[in-house]
Amino acid sequence: MSVFDLHCHSNASDGVLTPEELVERAVLQKVDVLSLTDHDTVAGVAAASACAQSHPLRLVPGVEISITWNGATVHIVGLRLDPANDGLLAGLARNRAGREDRARRMGEELARIGIPGAFAEAGNRAGNREVISRTHFARFLVESGRVKDMKTVFRKYLVKGKPGYVAHQWASLAEAVEWIRAAGGQAVLAHPGRYQMGRERLRLLIDDFKSQGGEGIEVVSGSHTPDQIPVFADIAVEFGLLASAGSDFHAPGEGGRELGRLQALPARCTPVWRDWN
Ligand code: AMP
Ligand code: MN
Ligand code: MN
Ligand code: MN
Repeated sequence: MSVFDLHCHSNASDGVLTPEELVERAVLQKVDVLSLTDHDTVAGVAAASACAQSHPLRLVPGVEISITWNGATVHIVGLRLDPANDGLLAGLARNRAGREDRARRMGEELARIGIPGAFAEAGNRAGNREVISRTHFARFLVESGRVKDMKTVFRKYLVKGKPGYVAHQWASLAEAVEWIRAAGGQAVLAHPGRYQMGRERLRLLIDDFKSQGGEGIEVVSGSHTPDQIPVFADIAVEFGLLASAGSDFHAPGEGGRELGRLQALPARCTPVWRDWN
C-alpha cells in the first residue's frame, strides 16, 4: 500500500521548509506520493519535482487556491495539474496580487491594539514576498512572546471579529475550478470540516462545487478530527466525489500534522488517485 499525502506547504507560501527539504522530509516519513499544494502559487513545484527525481517519491504538482464563496473563505486544492498553464498562472497571480495590501492593513490593525511592526515582521518571515499569509503574522506573534502558540493566535487574533482580521475578496469558486481544470488538474474541496458554516450551508457549498466541475473532497485531512473522517466519507459517497487525503503540513513542531501521518481512507471511498497511472 502506497502512502499518499496530497496537501502540504513549502516556503513558496506559508510553510517553512524549502521544496527540496519538504521532499526529503517526506521521503524520511515514508511518503510515496506527495503533492505540493502551496497557497495561490506553483512557484515551488519545479524545485520539488527536480528533487523528487533522485528519491523514491512521486511528486504531484498541486496548488491550494483561496476563494470567496457567499462571503466565506474556502480553499480549493488542485491536483496533478500542469504548473506551466498560462490561465492557471494568470489566475494565481491575480489572487496573490491582493495579499500585500491586505497584509499592510493587517499590520495597521495590529498596530492599533499596541502591536507595532507586524507587517514588516510578517514580510521578513515570508519565503515568497508574493504570498504573505496570516501564518507569517501568527509566527511573529508567537516568536515575539505575545501569544503562546499558533492555535491560540487563530482563536484570539486574525479571524473574523478579532484584532488583525481584514476581510478580503478572493477568486470565485467557478474561477478556481476553471483554472485547475484548464490546467488538466482535478479540483478538490480542501478540509471541509474546518469551515464554520453549519451543515446546510456546507452542503450547498459541496453541491455548488460539484456542479461547477469539482471532482474530489478531502476526507482525511490533518485539519480533521478522527470523528470527522466518516462524516466526510459519507458525504463523498453521497455526492459522488472522489476522496483525497493530505496532512496540510506547514512546519516541524508547529502543532500541525506531520507529513504522511494519515489514517487510511474508509473503504467506501473512491480515492482521487484511482485513475493515476
Ligand atoms: P491566509 O491564506 O493568509 O488567510 O492564511 C491562512 C492560513 O492560516 C492557513 O492556510 C493556515 O496555514 C493558517 N491557519 C488558519 N487557521 C489556523 C489555525 N486554527 N491554526 C493554525 N493555522 C491556521
Ligand atoms: Mn497555510
Ligand atoms: Mn487550507
Ligand atoms: Mn493548506
